[in-house]
Amino acid sequence: MANGKTAVLGTGIMGAAMAKNLLASDFDVSVWNRSKEKAEPLSGDGATVADSASEAASEADFLVTMLPNADVTAEVVEGGVLDALAGGAVWVQTGTVGVEGCKRLQNLALKKGIAFIDAPVLGTRQPAEAGELVVLASGPEEVSGKVAPVFEAIGKKTLWVGPVGAGSRLKLVTNDWIVGLLATLAETLAVAKELGVDPQDFLGAIEGGPLDLPYAQMKSGLMISGDYKTSFPLKLARKDAGLVMDAAGDTATKVTEAAAAYMDAAIEVGRGEEDMAVIHEGVLNLRGSAG
Ligand code: NAP
Repeated sequence: MANGKTAVLGTGIMGAAMAKNLLASDFDVSVWNRSKEKAEPLSGDGATVADSASEAASEADFLVTMLPNADVTAEVVEGGVLDALAGGAVWVQTGTVGVEGCKRLQNLALKKGIAFIDAPVLGTRQPAEAGELVVLASGPEEVSGKVAPVFEAIGKKTLWVGPVGAGSRLKLVTNDWIVGLLATLAETLAVAKELGVDPQDFLGAIEGGPLDLPYAQMKSGLMISGDYKTSFPLKLARKDAGLVMDAAGDTATKVTEAAAAYMDAAIEVGRGEEDMAVIHEGVLNLRGSAG
């Protein structure tokens, strides 16, 4: 293998796609997932599927964590993972863990003398599978060259935005934008329904002009069809809205708060695992216009 040994912890939607792209870029990849059966298909791509996180991390040069939040990441990593790494290894945290969560993880790395890069990513299932994520990297400049091949394997662009934590702050800003857009779209389509306007007429009216947005065209398709194949689970979008509100304070985040209420209304009826576009069903439920 031309590149180093890499442990990927968490092979959900994003982690599995990233592991495949690391394998395709000549990394020697060990994977671990809480539910082993979700990691097993990666053995067909050349990954070693470990029984424990520390086994996956054994003598690894890079530790890539792609887990839902800081609590889970800390819990997984504290099970002997950092002690198992090779000397000079770098921990690349890629989940959306928020500002405080990032500090917590950085402290775990500091205690063990492990270099830590905070690198949440922009992009969902399809860009992750295509190796076209945007990496929002932050951390010590002296290891940026070392981790560059990792980022080249998983992404189309890496933005180095400052010391550890700057990546997570930028990620929260972009997710605040996404959550607000999605809530507005979900509400607009509900209003269309209530006014007897064909949602396709709304999409046709904005198409190709300055009000149009590829994201709106894409997510409205899911909302109109009611088929919410998951690219980004609603429950994780709700987690991100909470991280934004924690970091920015509730006086600054009224739109996010409203989006969170819509998301909660969908989660309460058991739709948290579906794509975040299912927020539309939460809007319909709250407005009493479902069905
Ligand atoms: P996902 O498909 O739901 O996968 C979550 C992963 O975390 C799975 O491997 C899951 O294991 C594991 N996990 C959950 N709870 C755990 C626990 N208590 N202990 C150990 N492992 C646990 O999520 P994802 O979409 O890949 O997202 C991962 C991270 O990337 C999140 O921070 C998310 O916000 C961020 N992100 C996602 C997207 C996206 O579009 N999907 C885009 C950018 C960033 P099991 O298989 O055992 O459940």
